[in-house]
Amino acid sequence: MEQLSAKELRDRIAAGQTSSVEATMAVFERIRQFEPTIGAYISTCEEKALEAAADVDKRIVAGEPVGQLAGVPVAVKDNMCTTFGATTCASRILENFHAPYNATVVDKLLAADAVIVGKANMDEFAMGSSTENSGLKQTVNPWDTSRVPGGSSGGAAAAVAGGLCFAALGSDTGGSIRQPASFCGVVGLKPTYGRVSRFGLVAYGSSLDQIGPITQTLADTALVLNVIAGHDPADSTSVNEAMAAACDYLEELEEPVEKLKIAIVPEYTAGADESVQRALSDAIEVYKKLGAEITEIDMPHLDYATAAYYVIATAEASSNLARYDGVHYGHRTQSPKDYVEVYSKSRAEAFGQEVKRRIMLGTYALSSGYYDAYYLKALKVRNLIRGDFTSAFEKYDCIIMPVAPTTAFKIGEKTDDPLQMYLSDIYTIGANLAGIPGISIPCGFDEDNLPVGLQILAPAFGEEKLLRIARMFEKETDWHKRTPPIV
Ligand code: GLN
Repeated sequence: MEQLSAKELRDRIAAGQTSSVEATMAVFERIRQFEPTIGAYISTCEEKALEAAADVDKRIVAGEPVGQLAGVPVAVKDNMCTTFGATTCASRILENFHAPYNATVVDKLLAADAVIVGKANMDEFAMGSSTENSGLKQTVNPWDTSRVPGGSSGGAAAAVAGGLCFAALGSDTGGSIRQPASFCGVVGLKPTYGRVSRFGLVAYGSSLDQIGPITQTLADTALVLNVIAGHDPADSTSVNEAMAAACDYLEELEEPVEKLKIAIVPEYTAGADESVQRALSDAIEVYKKLGAEITEIDMPHLDYATAAYYVIATAEASSNLARYDGVHYGHRTQSPKDYVEVYSKSRAEAFGQEVKRRIMLGTYALSSGYYDAYYLKALKVRNLIRGDFTSAFEKYDCIIMPVAPTTAFKIGEKTDDPLQMYLSDIYTIGANLAGIPGISIPCGFDEDNLPVGLQILAPAFGEEKLLRIARMFEKETDWHKRTPPIV
């Protein structure tokens, strides 16, 4: 069952060849078997999922119309609000938080008749690149259980790779969909900023955050994007109706892009590991064979992306996380001696170390006297980076580069060195700063049999073409068909 893609499963359920209850039971069987090792979920909701599955089956048998994801078991990263279960953000501070409403994407999944099986583990408040910052549990990589699944959407990527769901939603502020997808050998798309509603997504860096699909195949990515994309009056940064409802991504997917012009940025990506470089050159050869023209370009400001990101993201985080004070939301300290202690102790007790580090960095960057020196300067750099992308896309359809400089690293390898951890995002952050879409697709394996991802970046609102370009590669290769040894 787990070998089927989400779309294949949906089609079989619709054709009466299998049922959603059968598929959902199979998923929970696998969860019982592999979850103790993988640790992908913070919570699961078996009873609710089986009820939803039975309802879809009943409606299919009755010949009633059903949604695009009818009967398909999916996972949702635990920073998206759900009225069922808790929404923890993998933080002790929200461990018992029950949201009063669903995130728009969750409502959209439900309206499409998807079956939500659980909430996936993540780095606390999506801050991290390995899921080791989760305050609640450890997730491992299904390809090698001594390694990290990537982060911050590590639980979602591990769940898809490990066959513990058929597709998942992650969020990407600086690479958190693409990097874990790359580490786990699955497909991960960060859509254009504004393509998908952020309403009900617990905010980290509001000008950077974007929700997107993590799936086994590109057809599944297109399918899930069809369901979640679109304008939402509840999110003022989601784009207007006409632009949002641009097309059916699935329908266009098989159309190859004629006279494809690809840019690469060799100087910027020279620091990646040899195995990553090798997979990238092989991918370039595949595109060349498909008739693409490859051009080396320079993007002079990308070198500053990581530095600018960690000022902007922490600044926004320091403001967004002010609401967890033991009064408005979250854990409250026992017997404080005054109201100041309600705030300070509640936060001190329940936030993890990385979250505290970032709140301090962000508060510092925004403080009077330093605002101009750090925050304003970072915003200017962001603008220059955006300019680099704009000029590249005037001439080229897309840019390809690695997703991360390495494949999945060992658990514990980078936890003592936050700067090393931050550098895992060196190639993904640019897309968030510029607001453009980026995808990671499987493009090879290293000498340890760990997956390598290929990143493709396209102009804002260019998802349709981006998916078609990625699909050209997927059609030519079978990296996406391999499954981890654990399953
Ligand atoms: N790893 C990056 C960070 O720690 C990106 C996280 C994300 O995309 N949510 O901020």
